[in-house]
Amino acid sequence: MPVLSSKKPYRVGRSRTGLGLFATKPIKKGAKIVRYFGPLLDSRKKKDDAIENKYLFELNNRWTIDGSVRKNIARYINHACKPNAESDVSARKRKVVIRAIKNIEPGEEINYDYGTDYFKAYLKPIGCKCAACEKKRKKQRAEARAEKARLKARAEKKALKKAEKVAAKAVKKLEHKLNGAKANGKLLNGHGGKAAMGKVAAAKAGVSARPRSKQPREISASA
Ligand SMILES: [Zn+2]
Repeated sequence: MPVLSSKKPYRVGRSRTGLGLFATKPIKKGAKIVRYFGPLLDSRKKKDDAIENKYLFELNNRWTIDGSVRKNIARYINHACKPNAESDVSARKRKVVIRAIKNIEPGEEINYDYGTDYFKAYLKPIGCKCAACEKKRKKQRAEARAEKARLKARAEKKALKKAEKVAAKAVKKLEHKLNGAKANGKLLNGHGGKAAMGKVAAAKAGVSARPRSKQPREISASA
């Protein structure tokens, strides 16, 4: 049977950005979790200074830990803007320890803040994927959606108002035309004017729709 239990309170597992380090046991606030270690690079040595990777931990102007070695489990710890651990740096001892700054529950991912230099160089260009930043983005997306819906509703209301205005104008125009026709019909009283208006007036009067007719017999016949 494989030995599953370990004295270590963490394991490497899948995180949202690939791999990460997760607590397997409760870790008390202030407790040392794991050491960040690797060969010490001396910036005064050309060969050391030429080394470039994502796991360089700068202790001071001169010394840097190259944490890219496989044995350095701490290299799996992802960055977070609101972390539950921190990197405790002793430049004098050239030693870095990852320490809990909150009580960490089993299953929780262990994170620490990589610092502004790393953030600017590696995380800002691709967008930080930490829980706090994801939450912020989610909120921003929801706000953008709500704003879009608000604008759409406003545009629809405006369009409806415009349509109502156009319809009201058309109705008014029609009413005006009809009133004009009535007036014309009364005034003209079968003595001409526009044929349609004459028709309206004539229909109302119950006479032939031929106001231009000069034959009274025909009018009386149809009446
Ligand atoms: Zn973040």
